[in-house]
Order: sequence, then C-alpha cells, then structure tokens
Amino acid sequence: MRPHRALVPRLSPEIELRGREAHHLLEVLRARAGDLVTVFDGKGLEGRAVVESAEAGILRLRLEQTWEAGREVGVPVELYVALLKGDALADVVRAATELGVTRVVPIVTVHCVAKEIGANKLERLRRVAVEAAKQSGRTVVPAVADPIPLKQVPEVEQGFVAHVGAELRVRDVLETDKPLSLATGPEGGFSPQEVEFLTGRGFRPVTLGRRILRAETAPLALLALVTAGEGL
Ligand code: SAM
Repeated sequence: MRPHRALVPRLSPEIELRGREAHHLLEVLRARAGDLVTVFDGKGLEGRAVVESAEAGILRLRLEQTWEAGREVGVPVELYVALLKGDALADVVRAATELGVTRVVPIVTVHCVAKEIGANKLERLRRVAVEAAKQSGRTVVPAVADPIPLKQVPEVEQGFVAHVGAELRVRDVLETDKPLSLATGPEGGFSPQEVEFLTGRGFRPVTLGRRILRAETAPLALLALVTAGEGL
C-alpha cells in the first residue's frame, strides 16, 4: 500500500501536525505510531516521515529523507478562468491541479453569469486544490487567487486564449521552456473586445478543435495540450 500523503508546513526534522491535516490522518486514514507518511510542503519538496506519536489530535512525525519528486511541469503555468455558474470551478480546480497548473485566477468578464465568489466558496476551492495535489502526487499546491476583473490580467510572456473560431494550434507555437499563461471564457464566451484586450497582453487566440466545449471543459483541454500532451 502506498504511504499516506500529508501536507506539512515545513520539512523539518521533527514535524508536529494539528488541525485538519492531523485529523484526516488520525481519524480518516487511521495513522498510528510506526506508520510511514509521505510528506510535502506544497512548495516543491517531498520526503518520508515516520509517525512517532498520535494522540489527542496531535501527530508527531520524524523526517527520515527528502527528495526532489520531479512531478512538476518545470515552468509556472497559470490559468485565467472565467467565473462559472454553480460548482463548476471546483471541478476545474481539481482537474487543473492534476494537470499541473501552478496558479488559478478566476476572472470576471462581461458575459459571466456569476460575477463574484463568496469567501466560503473560495476557501473551498483552495481545499480542493490541496486534496487534488495530494491525490495526484504533486509537491506544489496551486494557488487559487481572489477573482479579478479581466482588465487586471497583466502582460504575460507566453499566453494562449481559447477562442471559438481561432485557427492557431497550440502545438505549433508552444515553447515548453517559457512560463505559460492560459485563458478561457465563460458560458457565453469572451466578447471580441476582450479577446483583443488579451491579445494585447500577450495571449494568442488558439483553437480547441471543431466543436464547442463547455466553459468547464475548455480550461482542461487547453491545459492538457500544454502539459499532458507534452509529457510534462
Ligand atoms: N458561444 C460562445 C463563443 O462563441 O465563444 C461559446 C463559449 S464556450 C461555451 C466557453 C469558452 O470555452 C470559450 O470562451 C472559449 O474560451 C472556450 N472554447 C470552447 N470551445 C472552444 C473551441 N472549439 N476552441 C477554442 N476555445 C473554445
């Protein structure tokens, strides 16, 4: 059986875990003294620790070894995804984490049905990122930023905006050694002015094929092209 994975604040020789992470290991996964746990700090480092004691909601671990896991893409991959209705963003964050994203930035665009995210929902998205990072063997937990209006998207080094009707294919222009910024629109799509604005910020309009993808499918298709499709 694979050792459990735990997100810890720091990979120090002695690690003390309390709160949600300790509760999960103790009560859900039934970790006991002597068990091995794979620990990671969410910033890129991974290691193996032994449970020394587990009592009163506190878990004490002794770090035995650390290593570079090599499961990250190698360059920052940020996803600007339009706010979506209902719970769709949680699914996007989960799968985007599995696909190697390093930062998810929800954006508010003119055709967004949802115009804001409540604090609780944002907190939940961040927890989804932690759980997906653990499950997929990531050593980095992607940040989920507070939503911003599209106009606040900064200039990027290498960007792609998924746009219905675009003809450019990502694979023909992708440079895998450069930071990547991706953008996808809401249920109603981007307006022509928004696509023009993003183009001015360094995002090239690209196709995701001949069919119209749902707003929650498009970010994953675009991410898959730049990470999974490249073996990254
Ligand atoms: N009627 C809208 C339009 O024409 O933009 C459809 C929007 S689609 C449901 C939501 C988003 O997914 C789009 O804004 C775009 O970012 C992306 N998308 C969906 N299908 C796509 C495709 N075939 N090529 C490129 N982007 C696509």
